[in-house]
Amino acid sequence: MQPFSYAKVSSQERAIATIEQDKTAVFIAGGTDLLGLMKDGVQTAKKLIDINSLPLADIEFQNNGVSIGAISRMSDVAFHPQVQECYPVISQALLQSASPQLRNMATVGGNLLQRVRCGYFRDPVFPCNKRTPGIGCAAITGHNRMHAIFGASEHCIAVHPSDLAVALTALDAIICIQSVEKSRRISIHDFYLLPGETPEIETVLQSGELIVAIEIPNFASKSHYLKVRDRASYEFALVSVAIALEVEEDIIKSARIAFGGVAPKPWRGWETEEFIKGKPINLATFTAAAEVAIKEAKPQTHNEFKIELIKRALIRALSNS
Ligand code: SF4
Repeated sequence: MQPFSYAKVSSQERAIATIEQDKTAVFIAGGTDLLGLMKDGVQTAKKLIDINSLPLADIEFQNNGVSIGAISRMSDVAFHPQVQECYPVISQALLQSASPQLRNMATVGGNLLQRVRCGYFRDPVFPCNKRTPGIGCAAITGHNRMHAIFGASEHCIAVHPSDLAVALTALDAIICIQSVEKSRRISIHDFYLLPGETPEIETVLQSGELIVAIEIPNFASKSHYLKVRDRASYEFALVSVAIALEVEEDIIKSARIAFGGVAPKPWRGWETEEFIKGKPINLATFTAAAEVAIKEAKPQTHNEFKIELIKRALIRALSNS
């Protein structure tokens, strides 16, 4: 690991001003991803700004929804009684992420910004456009079983690893961001970027900006998260589905569906949602919806199985809702 300096800050203004002045500085809270990347030589930072003392860990329910502070620990959010009651999809997504120890340490803001788990990205021996732009992508001709079937480019085919981001995408969450000059609120749909020709740019977060909170609007319907992975715990998704359904007299009034493990960003199933709206809640509807969901899929050499898997996962998630 390269040498770095460390500073703990107690004011948000000071934290943001420090990053603004020193482009080699990086915020750290849980550090569960960042420190691993630094140890592996994948990411360098000359200065770490510890933001754990900032007052950004509140979970506040208001009339129009909930605001979750960016440095709330994953486990605190997952076990919050009102989160469990009103937004079970969030609690379920968090509890199927990482391990209990990591969830006690990692923050929700950090979870949204974690880097991809592509093995070629995390090993500097291999070419990776995300790590070093223009150098090539080892995964395209390499072992790409875990990679994308939607939204990839010829420059990068990695998938976004966060379960929480998939649940938040189904709930139309807002990311609240602060810089020295201004605060801004961005829909999670616009927060993540597809790789295109610049896979090194993953979000619209600018240098000097800090995620301070995540806002989730009220949602009256049932919600559910289903994750399929190679082992029962401490594993990233092969595919996952976050669902929020509003059903009246066995007819689907509205649906929000997002997929994980299949694209470089949480993948909202807009067309599938439109398809099932107004249809009866039964297996025939779910099976037809699954065909709509995979229409645009473009598998890699080793992951055609994800097409069948995402269909079955969607049918099961809809059946459990
Ligand atoms: Fe790098 Fe993306 Fe290729 Fe993985 S898929 S090696 S992250 S460019």
